[in-house]
Amino acid sequence: MKKNVYFFGDGKADGRATDKNLLGGKGANLAEMTSLGIPVPPGFTITTDVCVEYLKQDTYPQGMEQELNDALAGVEKIMGQKFGDSENPLLVSVRSGARQSMPGMMETVLNVGLTSGTIPGLIKKTGNERFVYDAYRRLIMMYSDVVMEKAAGIEPPNGEGIRNQLEELMDAMKEKRDVTLDTDLTTDDLKSLVAQFKEKISDVLGKPFPDNARDQLLGGIEAVFRSWNGKRAISYRKIENIPHEWGTAVNVQTMVFGNMGNSSATGVAFTRNPATGENVFYGEWLVNAQGEDVVAGTRTPNPLNEANKTEDTQHLASLETAMPEVYQQLVTIRNGLEKHYHDMQDIEFTIQEGRLWMLQTRNGKRNGVAAIRMAGEMVEEGLIDKATAIMRVQPKQLDEIMHPMVDPKAEFKAGAIAKGLPAGPGGGTGQIVFTADDAENWAKDGKQVILVRNETSPEDVHGMHAAEAILTAKGGMTSHAALVARGWGKCCIVGCSALQINAKAKTMIVGGKTFKEGDWITLNGTIGKVYEGKLNLIEPDLEKNKDYQILMDIADELRTLKIRTNADRPEDAQQARDFGAQGIGLCRTEHMFFDPERILAMREMIVAEDETTRRKAVMKLLPFQRADFKGILAAMSPFPVTIRLLDPPLHEFVTLDDGQITELANELGITENHLRNRVSALHESNPMLGHRGCRLGVAYPEITEMQARAIFEATAELTKEGKTVFPEVMVPLVGTVTELSNQNAIINQMAADVKAETGVNFEYMVGTMIELPRACVTADEIAKEAEFFSFGTNDLTQTTYGFSRDDIGGFLPIYLDEKILKNDPFQSIDQNGVGELVKMGVQKGRSTKKDLKIGVCGEHGGDPDSIDFFHRAGLNYVSCSPYRVPIARLAAAQAAIRNK
Ligand code: PEP
Ligand code: MG
Repeated sequence: MKKNVYFFGDGKADGRATDKNLLGGKGANLAEMTSLGIPVPPGFTITTDVCVEYLKQDTYPQGMEQELNDALAGVEKIMGQKFGDSENPLLVSVRSGARQSMPGMMETVLNVGLTSGTIPGLIKKTGNERFVYDAYRRLIMMYSDVVMEKAAGIEPPNGEGIRNQLEELMDAMKEKRDVTLDTDLTTDDLKSLVAQFKEKISDVLGKPFPDNARDQLLGGIEAVFRSWNGKRAISYRKIENIPHEWGTAVNVQTMVFGNMGNSSATGVAFTRNPATGENVFYGEWLVNAQGEDVVAGTRTPNPLNEANKTEDTQHLASLETAMPEVYQQLVTIRNGLEKHYHDMQDIEFTIQEGRLWMLQTRNGKRNGVAAIRMAGEMVEEGLIDKATAIMRVQPKQLDEIMHPMVDPKAEFKAGAIAKGLPAGPGGGTGQIVFTADDAENWAKDGKQVILVRNETSPEDVHGMHAAEAILTAKGGMTSHAALVARGWGKCCIVGCSALQINAKAKTMIVGGKTFKEGDWITLNGTIGKVYEGKLNLIEPDLEKNKDYQILMDIADELRTLKIRTNADRPEDAQQARDFGAQGIGLCRTEHMFFDPERILAMREMIVAEDETTRRKAVMKLLPFQRADFKGILAAMSPFPVTIRLLDPPLHEFVTLDDGQITELANELGITENHLRNRVSALHESNPMLGHRGCRLGVAYPEITEMQARAIFEATAELTKEGKTVFPEVMVPLVGTVTELSNQNAIINQMAADVKAETGVNFEYMVGTMIELPRACVTADEIAKEAEFFSFGTNDLTQTTYGFSRDDIGGFLPIYLDEKILKNDPFQSIDQNGVGELVKMGVQKGRSTKKDLKIGVCGEHGGDPDSIDFFHRAGLNYVSCSPYRVPIARLAAAQAAIRNK
């Protein structure tokens, strides 16, 4: 029979860290920590399979309740307490825990088991009536919200949920008693509140708050399962690409209390700094508090140790000095966990009357800066090997260190208007919006926005995603805003207490000045400073980033794919070299003709009606092209440069207004009417499938001649100047080998001519793009004429799917929503369809030429998943835009490791 409930406690556990799919991350690690002898409050985990079955069939699997009873009995035995007992009652927490962490997206109920029957016993045992009633009011607040409202599918309008209504009662009580802190409320206040809460719940929800421990437990479990399908959980999963089929586990665990007085505390920590990667134990704690108090950001948490102190937290006691023995025990656990998991851990702990309990450990989320630094340093420390280090950094995390920073000069002049905690590094500038919906809508209109909130909640994730940066008045480095922003590598400042936000009026007051919605501000998320206005952002200097260099060195050592770049201008080529490109995989030549000086000659050529006129026009372009190619070959020397002959349909060059028609007609000495007729004759119904690619060179060989000559003359000149250059001439859109042999003859003739004319000997290659299905199918024949292949996966996707690359936007969103497509095939290669053609092209091409050099220069060359595929398909290189070169280097190393 399938096991539904996994027990952990007292050094023994049914599960282990590798059971994440079944027990969720939290459950699996609680089991692991228990087995490691780390103090973990005993409990049990109900599996994700139970969740999936429950959500499908609305019932629990057979035998589940019996297993639950047995596990609960096990916990009771260890604790010497009984659940629902009037003398010595056990209280439990009920928490979610999915395979992949979804911070704050699902529900938790604490203090389950408090009833009129168990309260007196607990008071007697703890001798602390206030504590018990405080725990009870927390239970009622959470339970009514999570179980009685949310899980029951009740959706009150914003701000009118039961939790808010209860909070209003509590605020009213504080006002009446003239106090500000929850902790200032007396036992009698709490007792009276509890009574008011219960009445309100009956009134609003039409049901009494359950006064039976077992009902509470079952209700809590059910609510956690249901929260998997809560609105915000679903929207988070969509953004993070987490499958909806996974389900969550439920962890039922003995309650330990950090709010039992001044020898009790609670905290969260990272074994290293998750924002910088620095190897220091990093965290926050609060004395006499429960975990939710730290995460909610309602009290400013204390620094964990002396090393964590900042200017702003200097006056707050660290755990290191306040409870030195417990702190040392925590340090020992920290070291042990890093050694055991070989990774940075994110931990939660509670100290109950001087005794330390671990409530969670998991691999900590980190931003790109930290991920890169830790990967390199852990290799140096001998904690992980090089391959592990490479797999630790997500290629997209490199984006973060390549992201803009606030220009220091502008920043110095500006003078900050406020300072908060630096939760997400980098710079961000944008217009202020105060709600997540506004952020999303403004961004949709193409505006750059900064989401400003008192604090964020999981309900805000869509707006946070849309914003350039996030700024909150409340919260610490582990608050919701900080965690989510860090996960996405977004610029973020939290706990900026100088902001007085009025969300209703859509204004914020800072330092006496009022800012309205739409006003520009700039954030420096690296140091936590806020500036008025739109400050200049500058690109980061990767050259000086030592951690990045170390990681890239390892990547280069482990990858087998070469990385080239798509660049048409010397500046771009230089940028790509700085990023580590090993050549140009695609130099498109079409943009080179739009220069005012050249476009006229180009147009003359296009509308020419006989070869002589055409040749005359084309040859006017030769000096320009020679200079173009000289520039780009020199910029890449000594690396190879693949130059593609003219590709696009000619009518793109002759979209003319009336003035241009007159001018061109005059220039050519023909009538305007004649010119108009000629231009309209060039019109095509399907230009993408029309007179483009090598079809141009076949029809107008003088174009190929001119371009080939320009390439070789540039090569000869540079060679003479002592530069090592290597041009690779690439023929586009070949569908049959005869097209290629036709063009080859011209190109090779030009090379021979230039060599003879200049007396310079140089090397070059002629190859072709493989971007039509027929080219893949007949690649063995084409390879006879080609010295290299480069897959043009943009056109290959277009022609394989029959999706116009320019028009897919019209229906793609529907296809994605309906799950007809998993992702945009123009972004990530369709491995099963287009990919099969690529594999066929490789196999057939190399069946003719064993060592045929093959690359890819479509957009997919910069997409990590596609790079993995190209590695497996046996390509020699990928070519991508300059800014994706570092990502491609890392992704290529990961592909090599994954597919070893
Ligand atoms: C391609 O088709 O993949 C390609 C690289 O060429 P272009 O995008 O210029 O058509
Ligand atoms: Mg193409």
